Amino acid sequence: MSNISVIGTGYVGLVTGACLADLGNQVTCIDIAVDKIERLQNGILPIYEPGLEEVVERNVSAGRLRFTASYCGVLDACEFIFIAVNTPMGENEGGADMRYVESAARSIAQELDHDAIIINKSTVPVGSGDLVSRVIQTYLKKPDVHFAVVSNPEFLREGTAVYDFLHPDRIVLGSSDLQEANAVARLYLPLRAPIMITDIYTAEMIKYASNAFLATKISFINEIAQICEHLGADVKEVAAGMGYDKRIGRAFLDAGLGYGGSCLPKDVRALAHMAHEAGLHPQLLHTVMDINHDQRRRIVDKLTDILGSLQDRTIAVLGLAFKPNTDDMRDAPAIDIIHWITSLGATVRVYDPIATQTGYQALEHAGAAMASVIFCQTPYEAAENADALVVVTEWNEFKTLRMAQLSSTMRHPLLIDGRNMYEAADVSLHGFIYHGMGRGTDPATVTLSAIKTGKLTATTVGEGAFALP
Ligand code: NAD
Repeated sequence: MSNISVIGTGYVGLVTGACLADLGNQVTCIDIAVDKIERLQNGILPIYEPGLEEVVERNVSAGRLRFTASYCGVLDACEFIFIAVNTPMGENEGGADMRYVESAARSIAQELDHDAIIINKSTVPVGSGDLVSRVIQTYLKKPDVHFAVVSNPEFLREGTAVYDFLHPDRIVLGSSDLQEANAVARLYLPLRAPIMITDIYTAEMIKYASNAFLATKISFINEIAQICEHLGADVKEVAAGMGYDKRIGRAFLDAGLGYGGSCLPKDVRALAHMAHEAGLHPQLLHTVMDINHDQRRRIVDKLTDILGSLQDRTIAVLGLAFKPNTDDMRDAPAIDIIHWITSLGATVRVYDPIATQTGYQALEHAGAAMASVIFCQTPYEAAENADALVVVTEWNEFKTLRMAQLSSTMRHPLLIDGRNMYEAADVSLHGFIYHGMGRGTDPATVTLSAIKTGKLTATTVGEGAFALP
């Protein structure tokens, strides 16, 4: 059992604190957001994360987990201090904003009166371990205190954060001292995950490279989706066919509206910024970001291609959160999409099972024409008299919608499936005209027309692939 402090009670800090307490440690979570701490002290979670409430409750009741808004006296007897504060996109051309990490480091230094290991879980630019060390050294209240900084990037996903923390693919530790890295590694031994110990710069880079690779996979399949759409292939099947190849893997090959959320967009940008600072030109990263931006725009293009002007139209939007099982609206595609639709004169009716409150705040913050955004209690209410239904987040409950009821209440039964949740053949039985992302159209029709126009010869079609009408 170890004494641990976790600084920051957001998605990463709260999950880290609660799970480390669940492993038998004594954990204090600190956050400067007093309202968050008051809610936690009253047993209310400030975020929606499946399974987290139970873990928090269990460990608070067992006396292993507590919350405070003050650093005062909290670090006493703590051997390990985790930094899990936010590192949002900065205003400096996308570089990470390090002010929260610096402030946490300063607060640690002003309180620390004994030897301790500071573990950085926030996603930080390469070299930030040195920065944290410098800040702590500068403000240390007792100069003879020995401290070490270990990098320990976090790979959990919102929506499955508790599971991911407890079942990680790997633990990465960056340290200049093997003994200190081993001390941190012991905290994770109960998880029985591979533990990789490397230097701090490399550990920091592993996080950015991992997120950039995932973003690249998403932009890659979205580019393929666009090509599929024009050639009549179905990207969902293409991804399935590719995914069987172990060298490729099926994960992160879902074509749709691109990546969003609090991590991938800012991390790809921050990595590109780091490369620029080093005098490099990270072409691939720029292309990944460009494709991702265009992908959101494609929804609006589809709407205008089919409906013409959006002036005085009503568009129903299903889903606000950047992905299912979270209330997180940071850089959610819904913000841009709703903003663009409303600025073209349409009224938007939205429904999200969880993120209505955060969605409201995010849209207000983004300056969307809020007056024309109507928040609905059910998907059916959102669809009433709509000219189109746009699926933005693939919540599970959207898989079992009563499609005939939905389409019957709409002015035009047009379904733009931004997440490829449905099959054209199924939903058309319920009266919908379906448009997915990269789903082509009926392959026989497309191919026949391609043959007729001379774009495709009969020999290239492939014998027996499908019957031509
Ligand atoms: P978050 O915004 O949800 O939470 C950060 C918390 O830190 C906030 O509650 C904030 O009030 C608090 N904070 C800020 N400065 C503080 C200070 N000086 N002292 C005490 N508390 C302070 O952020 P998050 O999503 O948990 O992300 C945290 C870090 O982990 C980021 O660097 C992020 O990139 C990284 N990360 C996030 C995820 C994810 O899925 N959210 C996954 C892996 C890594």
